[in-house]
Amino acid sequence: MAAAATVAVFLLVIQLDALENARHLDAERGRTLDRLSTVRAHIESNLNARLHLVHGLAALIKSRKGTPDGEFPALARELLVDQSGIRSIQMAPGGVITHVFPFEANKVVLGFDLLRDPLRKEASQRAIQERHMVVAGPMPLPQGGVGVIARLPVFVNDDNGANEHFWGFGIVVVDFQSLLDESQVANGSSDLALALRGVDGLGAQGKVFFGDPALFEADPVKLDITLPGGSWQIAAMPGHGWTSHWPKRPRLLGLGAVVAALVGGLVGRVFSQGHSLRRAVAEARESETKFRAIFDRSFEFSGLMSPEGVLREVNQTALDAIGAQPADVLGKTFWDCPWWSHSAIQQTLVRINTAQAAAGQLARFEAIQPDGQRGLIYVDVSIKPLLDADGAVVMLMVEGYDVTQRKTAEDAVREREDLYHQMFQSSPAIKLVVDPDTGSITDANAAAIVYYGYRHDQILGMNISQVNVTPDDEAAAEARRAEAERRHYLRQHHRLANGDIRDVEVFSGPVRHGDKALLHAIIHDITDRNKLEKALAESNAELEQFAYVASHDLREPLRMVTSYLQLIDRRMGDRLGDEGHEFLTFAVDGARRMDHLIVDLLEFSRVGRHNRPFAAVSLAQAIGAALHNLGPIIEDSGSTIHLPDAPLPTVWGDEGELIRLFQNLIGNGIKYHLPDRPPVISIAAERQGEEWWITVADNGIGIDPAYFDRIFQLFQRLHRRDEYEGTGIGLPLVKKIVEHHGGRVWVNSTPGTGSLFGVALPISSP
Ligand code: ADP
Repeated sequence: MAAAATVAVFLLVIQLDALENARHLDAERGRTLDRLSTVRAHIESNLNARLHLVHGLAALIKSRKGTPDGEFPALARELLVDQSGIRSIQMAPGGVITHVFPFEANKVVLGFDLLRDPLRKEASQRAIQERHMVVAGPMPLPQGGVGVIARLPVFVNDDNGANEHFWGFGIVVVDFQSLLDESQVANGSSDLALALRGVDGLGAQGKVFFGDPALFEADPVKLDITLPGGSWQIAAMPGHGWTSHWPKRPRLLGLGAVVAALVGGLVGRVFSQGHSLRRAVAEARESETKFRAIFDRSFEFSGLMSPEGVLREVNQTALDAIGAQPADVLGKTFWDCPWWSHSAIQQTLVRINTAQAAAGQLARFEAIQPDGQRGLIYVDVSIKPLLDADGAVVMLMVEGYDVTQRKTAEDAVREREDLYHQMFQSSPAIKLVVDPDTGSITDANAAAIVYYGYRHDQILGMNISQVNVTPDDEAAAEARRAEAERRHYLRQHHRLANGDIRDVEVFSGPVRHGDKALLHAIIHDITDRNKLEKALAESNAELEQFAYVASHDLREPLRMVTSYLQLIDRRMGDRLGDEGHEFLTFAVDGARRMDHLIVDLLEFSRVGRHNRPFAAVSLAQAIGAALHNLGPIIEDSGSTIHLPDAPLPTVWGDEGELIRLFQNLIGNGIKYHLPDRPPVISIAAERQGEEWWITVADNGIGIDPAYFDRIFQLFQRLHRRDEYEGTGIGLPLVKKIVEHHGGRVWVNSTPGTGSLFGVALPISSP
């Protein structure tokens, strides 16, 4: 009985120990993954920044339409300015390497034919077909050392610029050792065991080229490194391996042993002192029940077996996992139990590990086991030999810890991290990460490296003020403007490494990295767009000037034609006869209409031309002036005008233009009336959100909705001149004026009933 009590207490302690161990291991994996991410970021940015140099070489070849023969060394040297870790730059027209720089150290590769070499042929041809960069290596170089090689197929335009043809390859060879040094793979992480695989960008399928290949098999944490057209995989674990025991373990076990011995001793004494057997049995039972309850309710799977692997004891958790009864497993060899019956491989694995434990060694492995609700689960199993005083194995203790959640969480974290990393790194959009407290640039993606022209390690040391050279006063004004316009971006001027100043739009937002709040910025170059917009504005201004001058100058000769026609009529009228008189009337009428047209056009081309500054305009006054100008027409037509009861608003604009606007709308309402219905015009105003809506409604002939768009186009009329006079410029003029004021115009109408024209003007001040 004393022995049973000792074992019971000891089992309890061992379970506690296993739980602690798993928790400790989880935390350790998390820390290692964090550190690996940093190493991965270094390698990726250092490598990609160098590989992308090959685009510079391709641009040179393209601009020279072929080999820049004599200039090559000078050009190559220029490309290499500020670059370290590049072994050589090469050109291979038609696939044959003809130019290398630096020459002396690398001349052995001259004449090498990429399209003939059996090892390079296939990848090179595929690169040409798919027009993408191939990354080869790391591999030993004929000129010594180890290199990573980027080959970019270059396509050159024919002389007439029409067709592109394959010219050859631009090649950059990156020194692998410098890459490792600079990425701090060797020194910065000395207590971390690292290994890299994926020769030729083949990712997890590629060969291991750095570190111990066995590391990949030892359950390390892994991350992918993205390369142009491929990837590498990097694996890590602590230099001493995963800690097999949590740090306070010896203390717990020691304490456990002491408590177990004490309990055993106590129980022994109880017996030896001849206490009532019944009481002793009852105490032992109670202790057994307690132990059983803890044992059974544990989250872990645990059990005891003989050195031969025959299961003697198993807890409820392990039984529940497969819905078994104790009788289904007790007395059977462990590997024949239903936990493993789904897979012969798992059975073998269990058998081998049991044998290892029976031989006196701790065995630990990861098993896959079916679970009623969740399908397959991952279990971290350990089998510990329990030894007697002579060191012989007397029992095997099995513990299984469900690590499915940890594994899936770890996978999910890795996948998500990979995804976001790719979204940042491989995005063609130019992206920077900035520390808002100090302004220092903490990360830049490959597109940003190419755009700004700095190396990755250079730009990381820079402050955003070295890039953003927008003068302070301009930046402050721009911030105010962006806020007023509710824009999510700021317009700035950014300086590139070559000194060019570019206009950019910067979209930025907060991101968190650990405890640090950072700013994530996407930079959009708008220099070309700005130039085009400026050119367009200039050309528009020229056109308007032309329309203005033309219409202005046309009136003068027209006036002369009219005057002389009238002179002929006065002086020679009697001699012309009825027909001659009629012709002359037509001619004068034509000249008069032409004059109207010119006056209307002149007015149209004047809108917004003077760039008179806007001022506060009372709409009551503007509409009053329009009605005054229309006075005779209102009277002749017997029109009724309804103005709103509430005072009309004041808006920000050009008074002359606003008068013309309402004069046209009210004038049309009067003009397009039904013969038997005198015009009634109703004017109303109301506030709608950030706009004033002013409406002019009439009871006239109305407009077919099919023509709602057309009537706002220049010279578009729905009626013949003998039905209703007009030039077809009125509504286009209204539209132009409204848009000059930042507003909109629309129409609603029922033919035969009337029309309503609405004008929306922004409620704004200077
Ligand atoms: P114009 O009045 O000189 O013909 P507009 O550009 O002012 O030119 O109007 C274009 C066309 O829209 C007119 O020819 C007319 O058919 C139609 N229109 C404009 N206003 C009204 C209105 N209030 N009622 C009915 N039709 C109208």
